[in-house]
Order: sequence, then structure tokens, then C-alpha cells
Amino acid sequence: MSARIVAVGELAGGRPTRLTLEIATLAAGLAAASGDRAALVLVGEGASSAAPEVAAHGVDVLVDETGDAAPVALAERLAGPVREAGATWLLLGASEAGRETAGHLVGLADLPILAAAVEVRLEDGAPWVGQAPWGGRLRTESAFTGSGGVIVVRPGSQAPVPAGAPGRILPAPAAPAPTLPRPELLERSAGNASGPSIEEARIVVGAGRGTGGAEGVALVRALADALGGTIGATRAAVDSGWIDYALQIGQTGKQIRPELYLACGVSGAIQHAVGVRTAGTIVAIDRDADAPIGEIADLLAVGDLFAVVPALLERLERRRSS
Ligand SMILES: Cc1cc2nc3c(=O)[nH]c(=O)nc-3n(C[C@H](O)[C@H](O)[C@H](O)COP(=O)(O)OP(=O)(O)OC[C@H]3O[C@@H](n4cnc5c(N)ncnc54)[C@H](O)[C@@H]3O)c2cc1C
Repeated sequence: MSARIVAVGELAGGRPTRLTLEIATLAAGLAAASGDRAALVLVGEGASSAAPEVAAHGVDVLVDETGDAAPVALAERLAGPVREAGATWLLLGASEAGRETAGHLVGLADLPILAAAVEVRLEDGAPWVGQAPWGGRLRTESAFTGSGGVIVVRPGSQAPVPAGAPGRILPAPAAPAPTLPRPELLERSAGNASGPSIEEARIVVGAGRGTGGAEGVALVRALADALGGTIGATRAAVDSGWIDYALQIGQTGKQIRPELYLACGVSGAIQHAVGVRTAGTIVAIDRDADAPIGEIADLLAVGDLFAVVPALLERLERRRSS
């Protein structure tokens, strides 16, 4: 693994995630600026067929179709080569798996880390990292003091752009014998069985405690479907057992960046707001005109969601059939 800029990709349903294409573009841009090559490691079922799409974004793709894509396994696989190569900059997406892989890598390869990156550029051959911690309320710029480090990049920080010259497709470095225990998979959370994933959807309709249970959640789901989007949730709705944990948005859930986030019965607690703050437009429906969601929403519709959402659905249906 001779590249100095190494990204770690992810697959969903046998395809590279949008975040993977974003960090591939970022890695290729950094490599072009420094005269280096950039490589992206893609492990797991579907890696071989997904590789050309990733390589089209200008990085060499290091592929292992049958390898273990668990974060701990990926970190173990990369830590040895990275330690040997020295001065390697690792780029990972701020997805759940990316963040976990980054954590393992930092420990195993003894590397510093800069997380919540929204911009990465080179100065004197080393990355400067613009970060937006606290849900984007702060903006900081940091650089590593040593040579080499891990950068965790937020979704939406870089548009995925195909490169003029595609990268090569090569075998990934061999996986070492496992030394750390592997987690046992007890249950795979379904998330959204159909439609776009919550991280990739252009429109996300959020269900909060205000939905009150199955009936309200069904209304929100119907609205998400009618808009061609997907449903997300607050922790309160998830903890109540109304919605799958995989769809939780916020500090301890997913960070999303849709074009439109439509919050229904969501108060807008800071732990939720950090997950949606960078959405293009935020619209909220809440019966409390003083709900904190009003502070981040572009539009707050004050009303009972059991009246507003059916009215919206009716409008959408009328528009569709006219
Ligand atoms: C360490 C930590 C981490 C956390 N992580 C997360 C996280 O990742 N994600 C997350 O979401 N939360 C998280 N939380 C919880 C967070 O603090 C809030 O408790 C939670 O977001 C509240 O969810 P909610 O908005 O659905 O419920 P509430 O705060 O109860 O708000 C419900 C809203 O619905 C409105 N409403 C009620 N009925 C109706 C109706 N019929 N029509 C219209 N509006 C109605 C109310 O006016 C209210 O504004 C975390 C908390 C902690 C301490």
C-alpha cells in the first residue's frame, strides 16, 4: 500500500455509499494537489462490482470481495501497512462504521485523529482540517503536529465528482490473523426496507414523540413516501419502540444532510438538532410555537400534526392526480 492518502469506503446493498464517493473525490483531490496517489480500501460482498464506480472518482481501489468488513477487522487490516508506511493520511466517512473504524485505527496504529471534518486542504504538503463540531455551531481549523493521522469527514462536505482519469483496481492488503475479538452479530436492524437510506435520502421526514405512537408514525411514513423521501426519528420515538434505532437522527444516531428535513412533533433538542443542522431546508410542524426546533427551522408550521399532515397528504395526492 504505497499511497500516502488512504480512504476507507463502505458498501450498502452492493453499491458504494454516497459518502464513499465523496471521500474518494476528496482523496483524489488531495493526491492531485500533492503529486501523490490516493487509494481507497473497499472490503465485503459487492466490492469488486462497486470498484469501477469508485475508481472513476480518481482513486486506486484496493478490493477484497470476501474479506471481513467489520470496523475492527478493517482497522486491523490497515494498521500494519499504515505503521510500516509512516506519514499516511487516512480519510474515513463519519458514518457509524467509519467512526468505529477510525477509533480502532487510532489505537492500533497509534495515530492522532481530527473528527467532524467539513473541509480538508493541503498546506506545505500536510492536511489542514476545517471542523464543525457541536453540530456546526463552532468552526475550527486544525493541523496534525506529526506526520500521519486519521481524518473523519462529515457527509456532504465534498460533492462526489468523477475524475478525468480513473484509478486502478488492485487487491487490498492481506488481512492479518485476527488479534482482537470480533463482535457477535445478534440482530441486523432493517432501517428502511424500501426507499433511500436515511443518510442518502434527499428528503427526510422526522417523527418525534409528538406523533404519539403507531398511528402518528404511519402518517409521517405516508408523508415521507408521498414526497419520495424516507422516515427518520428522534431518540424519544425510538426509545418508545415506535421506530427502528437505525433511523435515529442526532448525537447518538445518524447525522444527515438532506435537501429537506421535515420534522413532525419534534421539539428540536440539541442532541437531535446536531444531526440535522446542515440540512438544506428545515421545516417543522409542532403545536408549540415556542418549540426549540423553531431556532433552526426555516419554517415552523404551528399546528396539530394529526391535522396538518393529512392536509398535506391530500394536497400532494390532488397534485399527483391533476
Ligand atoms: C446523551 C444524550 C444523547 C441523546 N441523543 C439523542 C439523539 O441522538 N437523537 C435525539 O433525537 N435525541 C437524543 N437525545 C434525547 C434528546 O435530549 C431529547 O429528549 C429528544 O430528542 C426529544 O425527542 P422529541 O423531540 O421526539 O420529544 P419531545 O422533546 O417530547 O418533543 C415532542 C414535540 O412534539 C410536539 N407535539 C406533541 N404533540 C403534537 C401534535 N399532536 N402535533 C404537533 N406537535 C406535537 C411537542 O410540542 C414537542 O415540541 C439524547 C439525550 C442525551 C442525554
